[in-house]
Amino acid sequence: MRIYADNAATTKMSRQAIEAMLPYMETHFGNPSSLYTLGQEAAEALDAARGRIAARLGCEPREIYFTSGGSEADNQAILSAAAIGARRGKRHIISTAFEHHAVLHTLEKLKKEGYEITLLDVHENGLITAEQVAEAIRDDTCLVTVMYANNEIGTIQPTREIGAVCRARGVLFHTDAVQAVGHLPVDVRQEQIDLLSLSAHKFHGPKGVGALYARRGIPLTSLIEGGAQERGKRAGTENVPGIMGMAAALDEACVKMEADAAYVMGLREQLIEGLAKIPHSALNGDREKRLPGNVSFCFEGIEGESLLLLLDQKGIAASSGSACTSGSLDPSHVLLAIGRVHDVAHGSLRLTLNAENTPEEVQEIITAVEEVVTYLRKISPVWRDLENGKRQYIL
Ligand SMILES: *Cc1c(COP(=O)(O)O)cnc(C)c1O
Repeated sequence: MRIYADNAATTKMSRQAIEAMLPYMETHFGNPSSLYTLGQEAAEALDAARGRIAARLGCEPREIYFTSGGSEADNQAILSAAAIGARRGKRHIISTAFEHHAVLHTLEKLKKEGYEITLLDVHENGLITAEQVAEAIRDDTCLVTVMYANNEIGTIQPTREIGAVCRARGVLFHTDAVQAVGHLPVDVRQEQIDLLSLSAHKFHGPKGVGALYARRGIPLTSLIEGGAQERGKRAGTENVPGIMGMAAALDEACVKMEADAAYVMGLREQLIEGLAKIPHSALNGDREKRLPGNVSFCFEGIEGESLLLLLDQKGIAASSGSACTSGSLDPSHVLLAIGRVHDVAHGSLRLTLNAENTPEEVQEIITAVEEVVTYLRKISPVWRDLENGKRQYIL
């Protein structure tokens, strides 16, 4: 692999994060629940990490619960809010059509249990509005869950406005902030967020560790029964090295945030301008309100999977929106949610950059995508029909 451009899928661990983990695997390997010194040292380290993560989000340490990652935090946040709602006879939940599957599949499970789910339509620019949320709230609404920034098209939602609407109406607000934390300034108090999910491997920390922020007084439902770790809300010996790595990665990401975002945004603009020159292509999602490193395009007349595999042969790691499920290629639910028709949604490409990428790499990506798209169109029957006028161009 020469060029890594799939940072929304996962990131390379930073040296600082790795070094923060090593002592907790070698010398300070104790179990934080053990009463002797070795264990208590681990418990103190855990407390310190909790405090550092809380400080970065603007909350109190006791409002942070460590989890195995973003998916678990999403599940626990939503199931907890649903249980609180049910106790008050409120079984209506509002979300959007382009959430991560960790949210959508949890909502589907609740639907089978009798909850009513409203999925808000996403505007073609990949954004929803606080007005849409306000209009959808009912007397029996117990939760609004809207992602902070979308993982495929990078659009940043008006979280602060949505938080204000929810707080005014007395409805819990959860946000899947997995793509945002470490990349955008997030403040749970100022943005009136009640529950927030984050994951370390999306900001150069280790995989398999994340956190759920739950505002004080919101009782969580345990997903895992066992010991009394995480104040009885998440059983199992804490992933001490992972949590230390996460705290170090978050500190580093926050310190470098402004400078990195400015640099990565420059690369993003270079890439968008280059790819936009390919005929019958279109950027997915709002041009301005998007994550610094996110570039998502659709190219008419090609298959995203083929594009991805040929880019891989050229040493470029990217992602296509589509997911291969049960043998059939379904286009991405995110692209369908913003109104891309099936044929167009199939020809999608996501490139997500970070501060280690260079302008030279971006130029190499542009050249490679141009070559591969031209080649794939040459052998595509769909493209031939478009060229012959038997089909209408959409883009
Ligand atoms: C990656 C991701 C998740 C899942 O996080 P894991 O730690 O991999 O479980 C959830 N939501 C969004 C938006 C993501 O990008």
